[in-house]
Amino acid sequence: MNGDLRDLYQEIILDHNRKPRNFEKPAGANREAEGYNPLCGDHYTIWLELDGETVRAFGFEGSGCAISKASASVMGTLIKGKTPAEAQQMYETFRDVVMGKVKPDLEALGKLAAFAGVSEFPARVKCAILPWHAMHTALEGKETAVSTE
Ligand code: ZN
Repeated sequence: MNGDLRDLYQEIILDHNRKPRNFEKPAGANREAEGYNPLCGDHYTIWLELDGETVRAFGFEGSGCAISKASASVMGTLIKGKTPAEAQQMYETFRDVVMGKVKPDLEALGKLAAFAGVSEFPARVKCAILPWHAMHTALEGKETAVSTE
């Protein structure tokens, strides 16, 4: 990865950490899940408003490191308006990329590519995946707490 690209990705993460998008509970939320990463102390509640065919709204609250907060924020901007199946597909793709299981197609990933470098830092992989894991649980309709352990 060249330096300019690395700087761009760093900027996306810093921006979303500083100004997280959808950092509140949506009025119409009908799914909820909690995500907790004891290794880092990341702890979030995420909400979805599902109308059957579409993820109408997303929101989250909580606290944690820059990677986890930016991951939740970027995820929210990407899954809104998608079908649950599309959101699940994005979850699987993102998980494989940050776990280093696949060679990332940076162009196809768009903003998610900002997190591809996390695969080089095993301790941060759970931070990046945590919000996605919680979103996945919320889509499945479970309302239990999620832990990365
Ligand atoms: Zn973290």
